[in-house]
Amino acid sequence: MQPWTSTPVPRLSGHGRPLRLYDTAAGAVRPTAPGRTARMYVCGITPYDATHLGHAATYLAFDLVNRYWRDAGHDVHYVQNVTDVDDPLLERARRDQDDWIVLGMRETALFREDMESLRILPPRDFVGAVEAIGEIVEVIAKLLACGAAYRVEDAEHPDLYFDHQAAAHFGSESGYDAETMARLSAERGGDPERPGKRHPLDALMWRTAREGEPSWDSELGPGRPGWHVECCAIGLNRLGTGFDVQGGGSDLIFPHHEFSAAHSEALTGEYPMARHYVHTGMIGLNGEKMSKSKGNLVFVSRLRADQVDPMALRLALLSGHYRTDRSWAPEMLDDAVIRLDLWRQAVALPAGAPAQDAVHQLRAHLADDLDTPGALAAVDAWATETLTQRGSDVDAPAALTAALDALLGIAL
Ligand code: ZN
Repeated sequence: MQPWTSTPVPRLSGHGRPLRLYDTAAGAVRPTAPGRTARMYVCGITPYDATHLGHAATYLAFDLVNRYWRDAGHDVHYVQNVTDVDDPLLERARRDQDDWIVLGMRETALFREDMESLRILPPRDFVGAVEAIGEIVEVIAKLLACGAAYRVEDAEHPDLYFDHQAAAHFGSESGYDAETMARLSAERGGDPERPGKRHPLDALMWRTAREGEPSWDSELGPGRPGWHVECCAIGLNRLGTGFDVQGGGSDLIFPHHEFSAAHSEALTGEYPMARHYVHTGMIGLNGEKMSKSKGNLVFVSRLRADQVDPMALRLALLSGHYRTDRSWAPEMLDDAVIRLDLWRQAVALPAGAPAQDAVHQLRAHLADDLDTPGALAAVDAWATETLTQRGSDVDAPAALTAALDALLGIAL
């Protein structure tokens, strides 16, 4: 798929300390240690609805990772998928009597526009499940051949499942106990009750063709892929194993990321699939969880239509820490507009408070598990000092403008 258009990223002088991120598998903040090319996979959307603030906050967090690594001199190989065939998409198309392909294309196009308006740097590889079906089938066929995948005993629908016991480190990504895994599997799209499985936890890999559903001919028989194996195939084929960051919302910790990692281990014999598993918190609205069923989703496109400055939206989302479950309130946009105005006034002056220390602080906060509240406060301090005391650093306004663009993606 064609990703969205990138914006140029200014080069800054100097660089900060290595980026440290909380790794779910380790249960601790650890330094990232990419090679020349940093490798990151972030799970993409299922395009049946518009981008809401929870999506935006997630992609924004990983955009900061991307930007920080670039600032440190790395190339970044960033891969993101689009789950353009899956149950939620087909259900929505059926409900609205829409063509599932057209629905998927429409929402993916809107997602691209939303990402571009928020100045999120595009992935190098933006890969749809449909265009990757050949490579996904190849992965499943290998897992079937080595005994890690099996067909359920069901004459009508002999679907293929992954035997989770085929991966020695199964459970090490989430660290959840059996009871939690069982509960989350049932809540998040698993099918523990399905007869014929070796174990209730085992995850679907290939759903054989059903009447009225799209399917693809393959050596596995006609059908369509499961979600976890989609991300495993797309990620491994572009990044290899042991890549730097596997990312997504905290609702992907289990079963999605656990199973993608287990598929990878069973397939390659190598562990781990990713060196960091990084998860973002959920965004609620006025103290309630944002969800489709409550009808309280706030869409990025809706805010754009209401003439909200995308930089204010970006800043409002960055005002909370990415790992914290937090609540969205419209007043956050008002605060962000005031903050942007403060920063814009400060960089419009011919000179300011010394830039070097402010940029150092900005980098240091970001390196500390993306401490954006701290980073924003450091810029506030520089702007306030500049506006009240009129510093003498004539390079400071341009230096801060470039640093905010390069590191925070904020164009003043
Ligand atoms: Zn994924």
